[in-house]
Amino acid sequence: MSPHRFRTMGEQAGRRSWAEPWKIKMVEPITMTTREEREKAIREAGYNTFLLRSEDVYIDLLTDSGTSAMSDRQWAGMMLGDEAYAGSVNFYHLEQAVQQYYGYQYLVPTHQGRGAEHLISQALIKKGQYVPGNMYFTTTRLHQEMAGGIFVDVIIDEAHDPADMHHFKGNVDLNKLEDLIKEKGAENIAYVSLAGTVNMAGGQPVSMANVKALRQLCDKYGILLMLDATRMVENAYFIKTSEEGYADKPVAEILKEFCSYTDGAWMSGKKDHLVNIGGWLAVNDEELFDELRNMVVVYEGLHTYGGMAGRDMEAMAIGIRESVQDDHIRARVGQVLYLGQLLTDWEIPIVRPVGGHAIFLDARAFYPHIPQERFPAQMLAAQLYLDSGIRSMERGIVSAGRDPKTGEHRHPRLELTRLTIPRRVYTEAHMDVVAESVKEVYNLREQTRGLKMVYEPKRLRFFQARFEPL
Ligand SMILES: *Cc1c(COP(=O)(O)O)cnc(C)c1O
Repeated sequence: MSPHRFRTMGEQAGRRSWAEPWKIKMVEPITMTTREEREKAIREAGYNTFLLRSEDVYIDLLTDSGTSAMSDRQWAGMMLGDEAYAGSVNFYHLEQAVQQYYGYQYLVPTHQGRGAEHLISQALIKKGQYVPGNMYFTTTRLHQEMAGGIFVDVIIDEAHDPADMHHFKGNVDLNKLEDLIKEKGAENIAYVSLAGTVNMAGGQPVSMANVKALRQLCDKYGILLMLDATRMVENAYFIKTSEEGYADKPVAEILKEFCSYTDGAWMSGKKDHLVNIGGWLAVNDEELFDELRNMVVVYEGLHTYGGMAGRDMEAMAIGIRESVQDDHIRARVGQVLYLGQLLTDWEIPIVRPVGGHAIFLDARAFYPHIPQERFPAQMLAAQLYLDSGIRSMERGIVSAGRDPKTGEHRHPRLELTRLTIPRRVYTEAHMDVVAESVKEVYNLREQTRGLKMVYEPKRLRFFQARFEPL
């Protein structure tokens, strides 16, 4: 395998088309708006796409979180909700699905991914301990910091370069990690926080070889390896298409092997699991499980619902089974690659290779004349909305927030605008509309100026910050 091969649709083993393994049974009308209406809407939203009303949006690529279309099977499952306060039958279905497909022994349900991140961070991090991770995720890092941890990025350098064609840009740099362990002492590392795929790097996967080597390194020093499994099905699919020895294995098998090298995982069911809400935390250590099961009662709900309705747990259990089918995941990632291929053919700067859930436009390359303090990726998101009513989001300096010690902006090397594709929601024609709008905004790039921030919330500022054009 060449690590610098481009992921293309043609690489999807033996199939000519990624076409969807489903048909549409029910449709949801969406709003078409005029340029004038969009100008008013984005102004009122403070040039922050998070503050737009969804009814003013045509194609909503803000996030793939909780935006999936459920199947008729999942909707049928909703009718089988057992809303008993304790011991709901749906909890046991969910527990069984997680054990079967992820392989962990003990399950703690949570209302969504961040509920699980809160519990695991509080349970495992002592104040002042280090938490090395393969790049950060916003809510993950915040919970680690709120528990007194110090996050350290140990991803490979290639991940910070939007043009580098490494196939597994989510990999941990084992030398960086071992240097940190030696410098700080193994007892000062809370756990290794591994995510597959890496959202902030562009949905980039971690290879099986890397997680195996990580397991060995963690064993050598007696450190726990915890997995953010939010998009691990997509990660498993990339292992199948790009890593030697996996082409003929079912995605479900690859997923389970990957998880077997880790000690536990947290999950945002709103992504891979094809549901609108839900999450979980799963571990193999019984003592840790006891602690987590006790904590969940305080923060989320009883340990057999964790903030979810019975019907939601049922839909998630069914969604887990659907999500690991090869045909499903091939179509899901195939649609993302399709959009990426169009933009690449038109020489529009995007993060490559294309990741599993989104296209990331490289706003630095789009707007080289706009300095990072003038929020180029935020501006790009606003311009796309103005052009066509497409909603994207900033993943750059606004999302990175301020350094808790110095109070200064963190300056991430990646300044990106994310076009996130919901699962089973939009068609290929919608992807064409998106590509054409990106092209139009790209053609007008030289006339575009930056933004100034006029309101800044203290935490996770990207959700609520407000801007004005310069
Ligand atoms: C969305 C997400 C989370 C947080 O999950 P929520 O369900 O939104 O609380 C954690 N990690 C990653 C990688 C995510 O994408």
